[in-house]
Amino acid sequence: MTWPAIALFLVLAGVVDVLAMALWYACSWPRSQILGRALVRGPAKGKRIALTFDDGPLAPFTEQILDVLKSRGVHATFFVCGKNAEAHSEIIRRIHREGHTLGNHTWSHPYLYFLSRRKMAEEIDKTQEAIRAAAGQVPRLFRPPYGARWFGLHPVLRKRGMELVQWSLDPHDWQLDAQGVLARVRADMHPGAVILLHDGRQAPGGYLRRLLKKGLPAGDHESSTTGHSATVEALPALIDEARKEGFEFVPVEDFLLL
Ligand SMILES: [Zn+2]
Repeated sequence: MTWPAIALFLVLAGVVDVLAMALWYACSWPRSQILGRALVRGPAKGKRIALTFDDGPLAPFTEQILDVLKSRGVHATFFVCGKNAEAHSEIIRRIHREGHTLGNHTWSHPYLYFLSRRKMAEEIDKTQEAIRAAAGQVPRLFRPPYGARWFGLHPVLRKRGMELVQWSLDPHDWQLDAQGVLARVRADMHPGAVILLHDGRQAPGGYLRRLLKKGLPAGDHESSTTGHSATVEALPALIDEARKEGFEFVPVEDFLLL
């Protein structure tokens, strides 16, 4: 190889690297606005925060969370998966009845990477229909599984008048115990926080692991009978401590009105 060829190779490798990093940022970074508008957090002024729960509904956790929210008069947003909504339509009705917001979190919880626009629309529309059938209401909010977006998603949402909602505070409730969750919330709390929690459970593993195990139902929810959840355990203290600090819980869609 001659020196000019080596130099050209290095430049091209650098360009490919930069493009790969830009693609990763656009599609995978929760706060990225490159592919389209995403609500990440509310205003820094004031002390309003919002609770969001993903992946449910799943008994008994969603019901336990609803009990805690009811006892403390807090309204939250539930980004539900369509197939769970269809299986637990009575919980969907309860979420709606008790004044919480229902959001769309796709039908089967796939990574949206490399999915066609048609497939993404199908995941969204089937879920809208399952929620409408259960609660008589069609969601306006969408949260992509893992916060991962892909080309064509934003036009699909725009066509349906839907808004994409990410988060600004992730206490890793799918990974930590209740004390760990509370510690992270205390450390990362900020005005306008959109807090990401889970009332459902997904099979663990990153994109590549999922890809290699394609035969398995990706994003399937573990049907746990232990009745134990770090999220449920941490939630009462999370709410009480935040209020003591002067924070007020508002529905996440309030942040879209600004
Ligand atoms: Zn999810």
